Amino acid sequence: MAKTRDYLFYDTAVSICTTCFKRVDAKIVFEDGKVFMLKRCPEHGFERVLMADDVDYYRRCREVFLKPPEMPDHYNTPVKYGCPYDCGLCPDHEQHSCLTLLEICDACNLSCPICYANSGTHRTTYKPLDQIERMLNAIVSNEIEPDVVQISGGEPTIHPQFFEVLDAAKKRPIKHLMVNTNGIRIATEEGFAERLATYMPEFELYLQFDSLRRDPLMQLRGADLRHIREKALEKLNRLNVSTTLVVTVERGVNDDEMGAIVDFALKQKCVRGVTFQPVQQAGRLQGYDSAAHRLTLSEVRRRILEQTSVFKPEDLIPVPCHPDSLAMAYAMKLGGKVVPLTGMIEPDVLINGGRNTIVYEKDETIRNHIFKLFATNHSPAAQAMTLRELLCCLPQVLAPKSLGYDNLFRILIVAFIDAQSFDLRSIKKTCVHIAHPDGKRLIPFDTYNMFYRDDLEKERLEPLREKVMAAI
Ligand code: SF4
Ligand code: SF4
Ligand SMILES: [Zn+2]
Repeated sequence: MAKTRDYLFYDTAVSICTTCFKRVDAKIVFEDGKVFMLKRCPEHGFERVLMADDVDYYRRCREVFLKPPEMPDHYNTPVKYGCPYDCGLCPDHEQHSCLTLLEICDACNLSCPICYANSGTHRTTYKPLDQIERMLNAIVSNEIEPDVVQISGGEPTIHPQFFEVLDAAKKRPIKHLMVNTNGIRIATEEGFAERLATYMPEFELYLQFDSLRRDPLMQLRGADLRHIREKALEKLNRLNVSTTLVVTVERGVNDDEMGAIVDFALKQKCVRGVTFQPVQQAGRLQGYDSAAHRLTLSEVRRRILEQTSVFKPEDLIPVPCHPDSLAMAYAMKLGGKVVPLTGMIEPDVLINGGRNTIVYEKDETIRNHIFKLFATNHSPAAQAMTLRELLCCLPQVLAPKSLGYDNLFRILIVAFIDAQSFDLRSIKKTCVHIAHPDGKRLIPFDTYNMFYRDDLEKERLEPLREKVMAAI
């Protein structure tokens, strides 16, 4: 009898070695209902990385959720050394910046063990305002009207010119401005939340919120931040400042409380959703035992579905611009009731606005509105407007006149790509980018952490580029 493999060979891939970061050949295989990447570096040997624990979902992301990419207005770097050594964005990239991060300082008032930016109290750099303005100009020049810009750090709220940065961003045609924060200043400083509230609407806080329990917070953040989160939310609820709770998820630490966090979030007036981010292999995390700590997107999705009764599998779907890394579920909060929306949509509608699918009572108008709702890129304000139009078409849902962004609730899973899970096919589709401090480039967030942050470009990337040139 002929010998057979114990796995199913699905595809080839290009990855990188997690030791020397050189490009290496890889295979994608299915084994025991899971997806693995097998790769081998001539110098550092063989690696086997879990990519997903759900073959069907993985295949759906790759084979069904294929959308023509939207492009930036122009590119910033030429194609020279090959991907991912040319970021960016170089003309080979396959998606514009749906969300752009703008890091304004390295300094932070926490020193979290899991910090991908390696920020903390030991770092004291704050970018000057003129440099920040140049970085903002780079974003606007690429995107013309950027969908979402997220001010980040370090901890951006401790930048001495934080409000001037917000003013500079607000002056530009940015559809939705977000601030990524650990909430300490909001909780502890009198009048700070009130001042933030003056930037509403089209303004949102991305509030770090990893757990309702002490132990996971100690493990992830090195501090019991429960009272800080409570205090911050109390103020934000009172002022109704749009807030997304951001949960960094680590296997065996807080992956059993995702459902509880969703239930908690649904009760908060100011909370528009929860974003789950599995820990990434970067910054202080280098050298972590990844098999023990890393969670793939499909594992996070599975746990959310197991732990909450609000969303069904058909509600938590791939985001078409970058399905490997992003999954979403949208719902409406209506007078204590939660109505999931995403399950009503056939993928074809989401991807093409297709005509031959049946969506919710076959009503053309509803279908068009649903398509519009999810075709407005990632601008939540635009989505809220379309949501209002959509609800007028659903007679069985009594839509209050005041319906708006307040009623929208979304779950997002954002699984950044690290050296382990690096797949060249996927990296080209990333749509979360970061403004480089040089004010000239926008770099995929994933490659930024592997090759472009701080001294990495000089120390890690330049030697690799030299090898590419020497081989020619
Ligand atoms: S990741 Fe994108 S921007 Fe970077 S080199 Fe590859 S194609 Fe170009
Ligand atoms: S993860 Fe955030 S809060 Fe923690 S040290 Fe890094 S920048 Fe500061
Ligand atoms: Zn190697």
